[in-house]
Amino acid sequence: MTIKYKTIKEIKSMISQNEISNIEIVQEVYKLIDENKHLNAFITLNEENSLKKAEVLDKSSSNLPLAGIPIAQKDLFCTKGIRTTCASNILNNFIPPYSATVIENLEKAGCISIGKTNMDEFAMGSSNETSFFGNVQNPWGQKLVPGGSSGGSASAIAAGIVPAASGTDTGGSIRQPASLCGISGLKPTYGRISRWGMIAFASSLDQAGPMARTAEDCAIMLNEMCSHDEKDTTSLNDKIPNFEDNLNNSLNGKKIGIVKDLDLSSLDNDVVAVYENSLKEFVSMGAELININLPNLSLSVPTYYVVAPAECSSNLSRFDGVKFGRRSENPKDLEELYIQTRSEGFGDEVKRRILIGSYVLSAGYYDAYYKKAQQVRRLIKNDFDSAFKNVDVIMTPTTRGPAFEMGSKGSDPIQMYLEDLFTISANLAGLPAMSIPNGNIDNKPIGLQIIGDFLNESTILNFAHMYQKVTNWHNYTPEGVRQ
Ligand code: GLN
Repeated sequence: MTIKYKTIKEIKSMISQNEISNIEIVQEVYKLIDENKHLNAFITLNEENSLKKAEVLDKSSSNLPLAGIPIAQKDLFCTKGIRTTCASNILNNFIPPYSATVIENLEKAGCISIGKTNMDEFAMGSSNETSFFGNVQNPWGQKLVPGGSSGGSASAIAAGIVPAASGTDTGGSIRQPASLCGISGLKPTYGRISRWGMIAFASSLDQAGPMARTAEDCAIMLNEMCSHDEKDTTSLNDKIPNFEDNLNNSLNGKKIGIVKDLDLSSLDNDVVAVYENSLKEFVSMGAELININLPNLSLSVPTYYVVAPAECSSNLSRFDGVKFGRRSENPKDLEELYIQTRSEGFGDEVKRRILIGSYVLSAGYYDAYYKKAQQVRRLIKNDFDSAFKNVDVIMTPTTRGPAFEMGSKGSDPIQMYLEDLFTISANLAGLPAMSIPNGNIDNKPIGLQIIGDFLNESTILNFAHMYQKVTNWHNYTPEGVRQ
């Protein structure tokens, strides 16, 4: 019995049928990590603790919802006693004294946190090429990027090492790597999952979420990840539904918004064809396509690249060599300590964002850039509010194309920023959105994005699950279609 390429649901059933023990699962995961070292998907492993937890679980026959499920955690979540780097040199030696709420929630549900996954430094990037610990490889091709910033999490799932992982999404970092690696990933409504213990990038946009092979597994994970948390003042106190309850609802008569103003002409023909085929699939399940307008959508990338750097320049000011992590050696005074620590500790992309952020927040430019961006953000949110009066979900391609080659976009930051053309608006509006695999182009996977109304993750998961019942794209792996 192997757990390679298996889903959470399948592994749960293997455990309950006594087909595999918790220890055997953990041992196999570390064997798979070793066989896939070239992917560079992990920064830090948690082998000793994982084996101990598996041993305890084997003796207790626990029926917790995630008992014994191996889960990889993005290295942006603080994990008590386990190095947490955010893929930055500045946190190279940081061992948090506490765990993020979402990690605690998942572990309370019985999961085994196998290790910390590689990512873009401080979650800034779309290709996993900004990590201090080196690029992550997409299992679908030696030179291909896995997407970012949650690239290590996506790569580990796509390679069949773990059934699921945690990710975070500020402008697309769950959905874009999910699309490029052929897996499913959900960014919940802003505030659904506590941000406490997540290393902040842009606090008004950051949101944690599940990444897994199937929508059903994302629902299982999400059930455990959500909680109201007094330690996070933006944590929502709304009722948390059971996200598995509505997965099988009929789509008959449901309305899918198709964005009229979306310019698909910059996409490969193949991407458009894949997208249109999936829409047909939904129509054959009884759903209706409705044209909608999101007139300010084209402003979402420029708006994001003012708001996100502004917030990051403020959030990252805490890394000064005094409070956390790495400190430069032998500074001659306090000012030099700050300058040297930050110059040595941050990579180029992070420095670029801090510069832009400080500029747009500066006294002379605040009104022209930051305030203006906040106003446009409101317009984008208003567009979605009117659209959701008439539709249940909105669908777009997740990305402009399938995985690209490492180095191919490195010299032009704008090209890289445009990777998130379709994903960023959901973060600006605080809405839940998901990517599911919906096709292959030149043997490289690609995803469909489903955006839902505020707090309506269940509807998104329902559409995604029904699609996965009648299609097979989520079963494609780099080694062929899994059984
Ligand atoms: N790619 C986007 C950026 O670089 C989004 C990253 C994210 O969602 N964390 O900012």
